[in-house]
Amino acid sequence: AKETGRNALRFFDPAMQTAVLERATLEAGLRKAIEGDQLLLHYQPQVVEGGRVTGAEVLVRWQHPQRGMVPPGDFIPLAEETGLILSLGNWVLETACKQLATWAKRPAMAELSIAVNVSAPQLREPDFVQKVLDTIERTGANPRRLKLELTESLLVDNVEDIIQKMFALKAYGVEFSLDDFGTGYSSLSYLKRLPLNQLKIDQSFVRDVLIDPNDASIAKTIVNLAQSLGLGVIAEGVETDAQRSFLADAGCHAYQGYFFCRPVTVEAFEKFAQDREPH
Ligand code: C2E
Ligand code: CA
Ligand code: CA
Ligand code: CA
Repeated sequence: AKETGRNALRFFDPAMQTAVLERATLEAGLRKAIEGDQLLLHYQPQVVEGGRVTGAEVLVRWQHPQRGMVPPGDFIPLAEETGLILSLGNWVLETACKQLATWAKRPAMAELSIAVNVSAPQLREPDFVQKVLDTIERTGANPRRLKLELTESLLVDNVEDIIQKMFALKAYGVEFSLDDFGTGYSSLSYLKRLPLNQLKIDQSFVRDVLIDPNDASIAKTIVNLAQSLGLGVIAEGVETDAQRSFLADAGCHAYQGYFFCRPVTVEAFEKFAQDREPH
């Protein structure tokens, strides 16, 4: 009874009550956003040496009717905790695949790929593979143009199950990129067992690559690691030409970042890609 009393007291802690309310409001709002049409995708170009665009990473945006644009860092963690990430993730995948199918009919856009972020709870779903394949089939997207970004932190438990799912999708041509590489502590021995196509150098290493010797070594090491494993490598968060040039010298020739383009609407992305197409 004493325990309950203490909990009851805690419940009336005003600060905590505000936090609980805030969270509940946010959760209800997010549920509505997914069902309604408050979510949208921004496209950030992925560019290779010479400026040609190879595709885009899609980044989800929440246009809240009162709060304006809510950044994904403010709702993705909540979506992951509440399970809402499953319906949100389905929406992102479906929207990206529909876009791929649209581009497939336009010669100038047909080669572009779309990279989609996948969260741990999505990958843990027993029917994840079937869901992705159903979405590809329903939309008419080319699976070879779809790249799934998995974070290193996702490879902590149930690695065997994840490897199996990756191979199942790889058999259809779906590609995989290992996101935020170097920020987690996954065992390097997994790397050679995963059917990856690409490592993605996290922006935390790119940011100070010119001023912090440690970040410079890490970036170079990731590039060398990718090369020795026969994988592609892309750097995210490239903001200056000096960073791009350092990475190019290190052997990384694919980039994403504000130096090239911020995440933009699909229309702006299409224009960006076409303007950089060699004529
Ligand atoms: P992320 O996957 O690491 O995405 C890269 C983030 O860096 C994006 O932030 C992007 O806008 C930002 N960025 C790109 N270039 C630059 C640059 O040059 N400088 C700087 N400072 N930042 C840059 P964003 O859009 O706020 O997304 C944050 C995170 O939210 C993403 O990190 C990803 O983990 C998550 N996220 C976004 N969309 C989705 C989604 O559809 N599904 C899931 N599961 N997660 C998502
Ligand atoms: Ca990503
Ligand atoms: Ca990152
Ligand atoms: Ca990332």
